[in-house]
Amino acid sequence: VAKESGGNVSQFFSADMTERVRSRMTLEAHLREALDDDAFELVYQPYVDAQTGQLVGVEGLLRWHNAELGDVPPGRFIPIAEETRLIIPIGAWVIDRACRQMAQWREDGLGDVQVSINLSAVQLRDSGLVEALRTSIETHRIEPGKLELEITESTLMHSVESYLPKLVAIRALGVKLSIDDFGTGYSSLNYLNRFPIDRLKIDRSFVHDMLDDPTDLAITRAIIGLGHTLGLRVVAEGVETQQEVSILRDAGCDELQGYFFAKPLHAAQLAAWVNAQSLA
Ligand code: C2E
Ligand code: MG
Ligand code: MG
Ligand code: MG
Repeated sequence: VAKESGGNVSQFFSADMTERVRSRMTLEAHLREALDDDAFELVYQPYVDAQTGQLVGVEGLLRWHNAELGDVPPGRFIPIAEETRLIIPIGAWVIDRACRQMAQWREDGLGDVQVSINLSAVQLRDSGLVEALRTSIETHRIEPGKLELEITESTLMHSVESYLPKLVAIRALGVKLSIDDFGTGYSSLNYLNRFPIDRLKIDRSFVHDMLDDPTDLAITRAIIGLGHTLGLRVVAEGVETQQEVSILRDAGCDELQGYFFAKPLHAAQLAAWVNAQSLA
């Protein structure tokens, strides 16, 4: 289109593209330094039992603060980390950080807190993943069954057959698996049944729209039913209102996660949150 519309338009587009390429390169350059600069943090968002509101576990979410760029959201830097394969060392950092934190919380008297971390497709394809997991689990002496890896449905569906042996090897360590952003990736039910998984996380878009859109409510209920038929726990993501809580609870959803209960917390805030929650 730009080519046909004359010089000015074309220049406008190419300037815009140049700018985008430049900012991407800046981001990439900073990202390469981020591990050395100790610029990452893992924050932890609780998910709770839908009936009792008690803590079930926390999801570790990566945060990156750069002196020049400020806070860069994961939605911006994770895709670049994946393209550049920087996600392998960054992901290993996340795994180790989560395990270290689990040991710390146990030392602090919070017991064995279940921690879920997000895994990208690039990590899943990397031959070093299982060893990285084993090393962190052993170093920090954590209960492997308290560590869970979240893999998005769209990741799994891309390469169902080739991932299966890796998933089985992860499970052999005792680590749990869940499918993240479920409902957006068009799973084959046949494959779902063969995955060695424990949890389904309903994509936040369904939770967000289910009050206005009967189709999204129907899908939400169907996912809960499907999960239970397969013997899985079902978590709803992105729960923001009391009304959503009521609907999801009535629909039999097992666990809830979202700003209604807690935003992602710094590690040191978890104990206070748990105490406040048990008084409520
Ligand atoms: P996700 O795994 O589906 O994580 C849930 C996202 O929803 C988080 O965004 C969380 O802060 C946000 N969220 C939680 N509750 C609510 C709510 O009630 N309302 C709304 N509007 N949002 C809510 P965040 O932290 O920006 O992460 C975005 C995505 O980046 C994650 O989606 C995940 O796919 C990816 N990500 C984050 N940390 C990591 C990581 O360590 N490794 C990898 N590979 N990906 C990560
Ligand atoms: Mg997740
Ligand atoms: Mg999700
Ligand atoms: Mg919708």
